[in-house]
Amino acid sequence: MTEVLEQKEAQATELGRVSHWIGGQSVPGASGRSGPVYNPALGIQTKEVDFASVEEVDRAVQNAKEAFAGWRAVSLSKRQELFFAIRELVHQRRDEIAAILTEEHGKVFSDAKGEVQRGLEVIEYACGIPTLLKGGFSEQASTGIDVYSIRQPLGVVAGITPFNFPAMVPMWMWAPAIACGNTFVLKPSEKDPSASNYVAELLKEAGLPDGVFNVVHGDKVAVDAVLEHPDIAAVSFVGSTPIARYIYETGTKHGKRVQALGGAKNHMIVLPDADIDMAADAAVSAAYGSAGERCMAISHVVAVGEAGDKLVAAIKERLPKIKVGNGMDEGVEMGPLVTREHRDKVASYLDSGPEQGATLVADGRETAPDGNGFFLGVSLLDDVTPEMDAYKDEIFGPVLGITRADTYDEAIRMVNENPYGNGTAIFTRDGGVARQFEFDVQAGMVGVNVPIPVPVAYYSFGGWKQSLFGDRHIYGPEGIDFYTRGKVVTSRWPDPATSKVDLGFPQTR
Ligand code: NAD
Repeated sequence: MTEVLEQKEAQATELGRVSHWIGGQSVPGASGRSGPVYNPALGIQTKEVDFASVEEVDRAVQNAKEAFAGWRAVSLSKRQELFFAIRELVHQRRDEIAAILTEEHGKVFSDAKGEVQRGLEVIEYACGIPTLLKGGFSEQASTGIDVYSIRQPLGVVAGITPFNFPAMVPMWMWAPAIACGNTFVLKPSEKDPSASNYVAELLKEAGLPDGVFNVVHGDKVAVDAVLEHPDIAAVSFVGSTPIARYIYETGTKHGKRVQALGGAKNHMIVLPDADIDMAADAAVSAAYGSAGERCMAISHVVAVGEAGDKLVAAIKERLPKIKVGNGMDEGVEMGPLVTREHRDKVASYLDSGPEQGATLVADGRETAPDGNGFFLGVSLLDDVTPEMDAYKDEIFGPVLGITRADTYDEAIRMVNENPYGNGTAIFTRDGGVARQFEFDVQAGMVGVNVPIPVPVAYYSFGGWKQSLFGDRHIYGPEGIDFYTRGKVVTSRWPDPATSKVDLGFPQTR
């Protein structure tokens, strides 16, 4: 064991090491287990991240538990002041955080800055915590009796997050959770772990007490330790559907409150009356932005009637203009995929699609930049039908599928029969049809001539069907609900006029 640890130490020193963050300080892992972190644009390993054992997760939870009593007693105005300080620091260091995201995830720098900005909006929402936690009050509910409701934090809560938004998705969780008075243990994706440590340092710099925010890195061992830990009250998860289901089932079995957001296959319906240029621009940015590694990416377009040929031509015309490369380079619009394995899996649909009857309009293998980076160029599959793997699977890469439909009814049936229900969009000039779509469609987030309808921070984010397990969406008002529990107080005080106690002053009415 010591030998393994020494070897890992040597390797980690050469490569750069990502340790845990517990009790307000960096804590090197001691499990002897770790994993590689890559720069996907270069295709090389740059760091080694420690994987937590059950004991290390417990240490983080115990730190969070000890910090809880003090943190929940901090006044709302102090918490608010602290969140304004956090807001300022994250804002000031936006470029530093974004550079870490580009280095480990691969998304282009401007997109990485956009990610931090969207996370910042959730921090800004949390700055309003005194208002968000206001309860209700009913004076004289019965004679001499008042009834009021308060919301209190749960205790230690945990977040388990995916690789595709290594800064923003954790912010969706820790900002409302901590503002509500909970303490937090984060288990980020092991593929791009460094942003979480950087943010942990910023939170300390802003003045957050030690132990309120902790980070444990790792894989299934750490995740299972979180799910089974008796001192963790709630778990928020964002990731793929099979793992989301597992998290929900295991966490609830262990008595926890769980919200588990899963995968997606977001459809965009384009009707014949749509502005085709607007729809093509939207489809291109929503399908290929962040190399398609977004849970709100448009991965499938359903083109109705005569929209089909015009739309495919307009998208095809735009594809050669998309510059693919290292996300830190000026002018680059799309970066690599996160790992080599994932790139190869995504590229495999460019074989299986045509084998199963689709038309390969653009083959990203031919346009990927040279070198060792995990690149795949923008790819387009037309004539995709629901039986094909390219339709059934969440590809999670720069491969856009197109299906032709004859009618609106046929198009909406496709969306509603799909097992996922995260986001969806319709492109049309007809307000009546758009309104009918909002009414009919079975998805949690709906866009009308907007391809990626991610709700602003003061609404909540979440899908339907297999895109979310649990009953609370994330951040916004539902986030506040999720991280607190209600208490209703019914109170009666002795009538001062009839009180037998001498209060030292006359009691007259
Ligand atoms: P993932 O499910 O592989 O991993 C998510 C987290 O679960 C990571 O922290 C990982 O370490 C952990 N994990 C992975 N395998 C596990 C296992 N067998 N047991 C226990 N824990 C495990 O997801 P990913 O590849 O990191 O992220 C991409 C997925 O996330 C896509 O499916 C995407 O749609 C989804 N996603 C959804 C949303 C949403 O809001 N619905 C947002 C972002 C990403």
